[in-house]
Amino acid sequence: MKGRFAPSPTGRMHLGNVYSALLAWLSVRSQAGQFVLRIEDIDQQRSKKTYAELIENDLHWLGLDWDEKYVQSERFHLYEEQLHKLEAGGHTYPCYCTRADIMATQAPHESDGRVVHTECQRLNDFRLHRLNDNRTIRSTRLVVPNKDVTFTDMHYGEQSVNLERQCGDFIVRRGDGAWAYQFAVVVDDALMGITEVVRGRDLLLSVPQQQYLHGLLGFTPPSFCHLPLLCNESGQRLSKRDKSLDMEYIRSTFAPEEVIGILAFHAGLTESPEAIKAKDLIPLFSWDKVPYDNIVVCGSCIFPKGIVSHRNK
Ligand code: GLU
Repeated sequence: MKGRFAPSPTGRMHLGNVYSALLAWLSVRSQAGQFVLRIEDIDQQRSKKTYAELIENDLHWLGLDWDEKYVQSERFHLYEEQLHKLEAGGHTYPCYCTRADIMATQAPHESDGRVVHTECQRLNDFRLHRLNDNRTIRSTRLVVPNKDVTFTDMHYGEQSVNLERQCGDFIVRRGDGAWAYQFAVVVDDALMGITEVVRGRDLLLSVPQQQYLHGLLGFTPPSFCHLPLLCNESGQRLSKRDKSLDMEYIRSTFAPEEVIGILAFHAGLTESPEAIKAKDLIPLFSWDKVPYDNIVVCGSCIFPKGIVSHRNK
């Protein structure tokens, strides 16, 4: 089996990113599988090489290793080849809508903030526009059918989603040539032979889109396993903008074994947040122990709420 951790180098990793990295790594290592590190730098404006280097450095510091490494910005030719397959099959169309157009004309917004887009599909027929319209193409979209798909997440169980209503025709490439996450991730997971995807539950609703794309491209989708998110005390998911729990702060305050110990406790693998090395968790790992509810970490103290430790001030 083969798993992966696929961070975007748009900032320093925070504790939530490390939680995902640790559990993806433990799942792979407990099955004697191969682990892939994939730097997801398709957003060329926001991605920084220094962050990519820091991600590697932080993972080494935590005691997490990998067998293969890839960088998405070196793989654009592969995305190009796969897009040709979709285009040849008539699965895509050029879309002229700006985000503002879409927001104005329709509005079923999913709870994760995504904007569902379907209506311009027929109006946007390329043959019509080619004749009398030289508007800017804003994106290339994939046509999705009005179909209910059911999938089983390894952790959250069976989920059912209507592709058209809940996902809509989604972007595979932006008008400026930038590749879309949903497309690049599918091509990469397939071509890298990934069999298990472990990541935060904010991406749970991406599964039907990704599975659908795998099918259109003739690939077998990996299994998916989503994780609870680490949140601050107001219930908001930790983000790269939230500096208080990023690796710069964490490394200046804690030893790697302390961080791993706290995350292992948050993952239900240990009874108390005692310091431990990542490799010593491999025999303790089991998905059955991992919680379902999001995990609250408090302010600048990364210890779980209510847990008294010599580091709690
Ligand atoms: N690059 C994405 C992120 O950092 C993760 C993508 C994935 O695991 O599918 O949120």
